[in-house]
Amino acid sequence: MDTLLLRPEIAALVGPHPRSLVVRAVRDALDQARGAGGIEPDEGWSTAVAGRLARATAPSFVPVINATGVVLHTNLGRATLAGPAIEAMCRAAEGYTTLEYDIGRGARGSRHRHCRDLLVELTGAEDAIVVNNAAGGVLLALAALARDGEAIVSRGELVEIGGSFRIPDVMARSGARLVEVGTTNRTHLQDYEQALTHQTRVLLKVHRSNFQLSGFTAEVEAAELAQLARAGGAASIYDVGSGLLLDLAPWGLAGEPTVPAAVASGVDLVICSGDKLLGGPQAGILVGRAATIAACRQDPLARAVRSDKFTLAALEATLALYRDPQRALREIPVLRMLTEAIDSIQRRGEALRESVGGEASLIEGESEVGGGSFPGTTLETWLVSLTSDRLTADVLAERLRGGDPPVIARIHEGRVVLDPRTIFPEQVTIAARTARAALDG
Ligand SMILES: *Cc1c(COP(=O)(O)O)cnc(C)c1O
Repeated sequence: MDTLLLRPEIAALVGPHPRSLVVRAVRDALDQARGAGGIEPDEGWSTAVAGRLARATAPSFVPVINATGVVLHTNLGRATLAGPAIEAMCRAAEGYTTLEYDIGRGARGSRHRHCRDLLVELTGAEDAIVVNNAAGGVLLALAALARDGEAIVSRGELVEIGGSFRIPDVMARSGARLVEVGTTNRTHLQDYEQALTHQTRVLLKVHRSNFQLSGFTAEVEAAELAQLARAGGAASIYDVGSGLLLDLAPWGLAGEPTVPAAVASGVDLVICSGDKLLGGPQAGILVGRAATIAACRQDPLARAVRSDKFTLAALEATLALYRDPQRALREIPVLRMLTEAIDSIQRRGEALRESVGGEASLIEGESEVGGGSFPGTTLETWLVSLTSDRLTADVLAERLRGGDPPVIARIHEGRVVLDPRTIFPEQVTIAARTARAALDG
């Protein structure tokens, strides 16, 4: 051990790395060598130790190139942020801020003030509060409005969002009792009416964000539910999921409720995510009537699910972009990717294909929105398809993931394909180099 630590190449690792880590790497290399009969590793001691050290100090949370074409890829961090949102987040990280400080009065302020006015302006709601994520928002709302009472939900809307997040489980944790009405495929207004009792606190509508129900189906519109709730002395909540603020129907994306439309339906509270179609940071956004938002703000859980200063900074900057919808479509990456013209995607694909060379070809294909939005909807795209006589698609995809940064590709009909829709223009060169290296290696 001591002899190895004195070798110049190994000694030189101390300094750039803490001594304790170098010692551990040497010990691990020695242990392995002992297990293998006590001989020096094939690559030599210093390379073996440096390799172990590199693996031990490599961060696990690193940027990747998303070549899957899934715009809101949950595993790859959902929405990427607009420039102004990134800058706002950095400013919040660099120094002190007015997070909970009122400059005018020189006294304590509230963090809930920051995105409130913008949300009110953009959605038409009376008031708003931002929490950590939409699941936290659902938990908070049910705790604040329905604890120890009943919340009525359609059997067709008892959804599992992913990561085993199930609406019924969240409701149970909130202290509200779940009352299921209707059937899997059909729920009518009279189902809610019949279930409404003096115990009812909430009528909850959940958008089926990640699956489609088709055929013999019926559901109750938010507006009808809002009316029924009001007449029955209960609150109405509409969990719309994706946080769409602009109508994307002109780009072939229809069927997802916009937040302003959900608010206009008259429900007391609308809940959505900040990092799905809204294109901002992870957040749960609650907008609705003043008294309903006040009840949420005052619930003890509001503190447990509150959002941090980086989120509020990035969300405020993202929301501000929506004041000019054209600017929002241009600068918010999620919206830009979803509305990018097909010939523009084709040009980027062509540039990628050309840089990769021989084994790449450009083919027509489809991209997905992802993130549990617009289920069943696909967007036409161009794909760069990679072929190799020597490598299977799985091996090629694995090699792409071994790039720096890793390139995450999709396998389509047995071929590795790269979708330029989600590859930023400035990533084309590096993605091509990684693909070239993967094919050659
Ligand atoms: C995604 C989603 C949620 C959860 O949102 P998070 O921000 O991921 O917590 C809740 N409800 C619906 C309908 C959703 O689509």
